[in-house]
Amino acid sequence: MLVTTSQAIALLNSGQVVAIPTETVYGLAAPINKPNALSSIFSIKKRPFFDPLIVHVSNIDQAKNSTALWPPEAEILAQKFWPGPLTLVLQKNNTICDLITSGLNTVGLRMPNHPLALEIINQCGPLAAPSANLFGHTSPTQADHVLLGLSNTLPVVDGGPCQIGIESTIVDLSIPKQIRILRPGLISQIQIEKALTQLPLAEQPHWAMAPKSGTESTDLAVSPGSLEYHYMPLKPLIVSTQNLSNEEIILKYKQFIVDNNSTKPSSHLIKLDNPKEVTTIDLPQTPQIAARLFYSLLHTASREPLSDLIYLKISPDQMSGDWLPLWDRIQKAATLSLI
Ligand code: AMP
Ligand code: MG
Repeated sequence: MLVTTSQAIALLNSGQVVAIPTETVYGLAAPINKPNALSSIFSIKKRPFFDPLIVHVSNIDQAKNSTALWPPEAEILAQKFWPGPLTLVLQKNNTICDLITSGLNTVGLRMPNHPLALEIINQCGPLAAPSANLFGHTSPTQADHVLLGLSNTLPVVDGGPCQIGIESTIVDLSIPKQIRILRPGLISQIQIEKALTQLPLAEQPHWAMAPKSGTESTDLAVSPGSLEYHYMPLKPLIVSTQNLSNEEIILKYKQFIVDNNSTKPSSHLIKLDNPKEVTTIDLPQTPQIAARLFYSLLHTASREPLSDLIYLKISPDQMSGDWLPLWDRIQKAATLSLI
């Protein structure tokens, strides 16, 4: 059910969860000091407790007040990129409970760039919020995605379509002088490196190798929630660089299901025995606009009543450079990648 910002503030203050808009994706929010509301986030999303929540703030002091250590790197990046799609992972203090961090001694912090989110956080204090979708499935970028994906009765603030459309870049600053990207996003490593050149030469942090995304080797201890299958639509997505006919797509999918019947572990992997129809989605030409619309295209294609499979043809240049953050999502959303 849609609610106004003032209704959302009252609900949050009374210990209920509310879905709120941000510029990346819609979040399912609860005040950081309300444990019952925080645990509802996990039950509503069917999210495992090993996957920590990001704490959303409306000013830098709220972020500092959540951390045990606020290094100069955090100050520079917060000043430069907040409000915006950058999450900083830092050592937490005891205002942040284990439910938020999955027992880690670090916390992910971000100031969202959305006027309604900022207004709500100003009134309620910091809010812990993951994306407002069932665990493992496509993130919502419109209010109706939340209502259809979670529940019609969930309070949702409608802030219009998300402008960024994919999740924030997550950068880990929790180890002094070591830095690593845990999740790619619109803000690139190059932009972060450039911002940090403000630090004196002797103070420059070392870049650690990021965990390899989309593979079994992802280190869940440093990057919990970075699973091989994520962002998945309700119907199987097939990605390919070739021009395939609908018949070829269906054949390849059926073969994949036979080959992988007993080996693929993920419970999110949707299996269809006898697919008949394919919906093709086309990505816009520029990476920023493609990222803005990708999840929405998946939600719409999933709801096509007569379609069984979703097909996305991509070109090799859409797998690198400014396309990398979106490519990361595409790979994880795909049931079958024919690359
Ligand atoms: P979501 O908001 O659903 O995109 O999920 C938040 C993601 O942020 C989690 O899946 C983690 O990958 C990441 N995250 C949140 N807090 C931490 C943390 N303390 N350390 C590392 N990653 C984190
Ligand atoms: Mg999520």
